[in-house]
This record gives sequence, C-alpha cells and structure tokens, in this order.
Amino acid sequence: MRTFDAAVIGAGIHGLTAAYHLHRLGCRDIVIFEQFTIGNDRGSSHGDYCKLKNMTVLENTRVDAFEIHDDRIEFRTSRGAFESGKCIITAGPWTGKLLSVPRCPLVPARHVTAGASDDPDVECPPGAAAIDDLLQFLRAQLAVPVEHCIHAETCFYTNTPTEDYVIDVHPNDRRVAIGAGFSGHGFKLAPVTGRILAELVMHGRSTVEEFNNHRGMFSLNVNPPR
Ligand SMILES: Cc1cc2nc3c(=O)[nH]c(=O)nc-3n(C[C@H](O)[C@H](O)[C@H](O)COP(=O)(O)OP(=O)(O)OC[C@H]3O[C@@H](n4cnc5c(N)ncnc54)[C@H](O)[C@@H]3O)c2cc1C
Repeated sequence: MRTFDAAVIGAGIHGLTAAYHLHRLGCRDIVIFEQFTIGNDRGSSHGDYCKLKNMTVLENTRVDAFEIHDDRIEFRTSRGAFESGKCIITAGPWTGKLLSVPRCPLVPARHVTAGASDDPDVECPPGAAAIDDLLQFLRAQLAVPVEHCIHAETCFYTNTPTEDYVIDVHPNDRRVAIGAGFSGHGFKLAPVTGRILAELVMHGRSTVEEFNNHRGMFSLNVNPPR
C-alpha cells in the first residue's frame, strides 16, 4: 500500500490551495485524490486554475471511505488502498458523503434550487426553462442585446445553516481537517482558507489571527446563530 505524508481529498480550489500550503510548510510527499479531473465542471469551482508541481495527483480516483488509526489514516478508493499521516477533506458538495455531522448539516444545492437538498452524484444539466428564465432576466437588465446562450453548466453550493464556512479539525482526530460548507462565497478567500487548513494539520493551530479570534464560527459542531 502506498504511504504519503499528507492526503487531500478533492481538487477544487480549496484542495489545491491546501495542498500548496502543505508543501510551503515543508510537507513533501502529498497526494491529492480527485474523483473526476482537475478543473471538472461537477463541483463548485469549475475551470483550470492551477498547475501542481512535486505532488501526486490521482485523478479519476474517488475516496469511498477513510479510517483513522493511531499511526495512520487509511483510504479506500476506486484505485485501491492508500495511507497517509495527515489528511485534509475539501470535497465540496460531496463532503457530507464522507462524514456526517448532525449538528452542522452540509446541504448541497444547485444554484436554481431554493431550500431543497440536491444529490451531487445525480448529473442534472441546466434545463431549457432555467436557461430561458436567465435570458429573460439578462435581457431586462442589460443594455446590450442578449441573443442566445452559448454554454450552460450546473454549479453546486454547499450551504451551512448560518452560511458560515466550516474550517475545523475532525471531531475525533486533529490530523484530519475539513474545509467545507462555503455557501456560495468561498472562492475569494480560498488562498487563506487553504493556509489555515494546512496549518491546522501540520502545527495544530493557525497563524491567521482573524481565524483564531473567531474560531467558533467555523466549527464543525457548533453553528451559533448570527
Ligand atoms: C453559481 C456560484 C457562484 C459563486 N460565486 C462566488 C463568488 O462570487 N465569490 C466567491 O468567493 N465564491 C463564489 N462561489 C463559491 C465558490 O465557487 C466555492 O466556495 C468554491 O468553488 C468551493 O470550492 P471547493 O474546493 O470547496 O469545492 P469544489 O470546487 O466542489 O471541489 C471539490 C472537489 O472534490 C472532489 N471530490 C468530492 N468528493 C470526492 C471523493 N470522495 N474523492 C475524490 N474527490 C472528491 C470533487 O470532484 C471536486 O472536484 C460561487 C459558487 C457558485 C456555485
């Protein structure tokens, strides 16, 4: 079984920035598991935004489960078993399929959905009615003529009840960190979020004082009212 120093589950923007910061903090043998390909259009990030050096990137490799042991974290994947010393989970709308945290439900939702929960494993391209609605809206709002839609993709939100992010360590083990529930506003802070996640698994604490001062807000279990 191949062993790594650290593993990242999910190569969206948060997984990639976390992997970058793991490397910056001195972690050298890093694997990134991605169930599709980097830049895929199934999660929230979409697009090809990063080139990775000095890391093992396993595309088309889905992590089905992980187990935390005293001396290692073991992964069962679609390409066999792997293990690592530390782990960062940045699985976007799939996070709830890897871990279940009753007090902080992570609800995946397509952008057109209001309030319901969607399954990110069920592919659902934008329908003609939704595209039509959007075209009508654009025609009413923009001065330039809007003729037709040339491309449409489904983008997933992963919402928490308060819409605050989850940036925390696993309730049972500090070698595993979770970045999820970005509630439609995570992209812009991804570089600092990746840094915090990497610092949590590498050093047990973050150097980002704004995070330390409001850590309760980002907790997996506590979801305080605003
Ligand atoms: C319509 C829309 C508009 C937005 N606008 C903004 C904005 O204006 N500003 C802003 O800051 N943010 C915005 N966001 C939010 C931002 O895009 C997300 O917060 C961010 O992209 C989330 O990235 P992520 O890496 O956490 O998740 P994702 O991009 O979903 O990446 C998760 C990755 O993990 C992989 N994965 C999942 N499970 C497994 C597994 N078991 N094994 C292996 N791989 C796995 C997935 O395939 C995926 O590639 C918007 C989002 C949407 C949908």
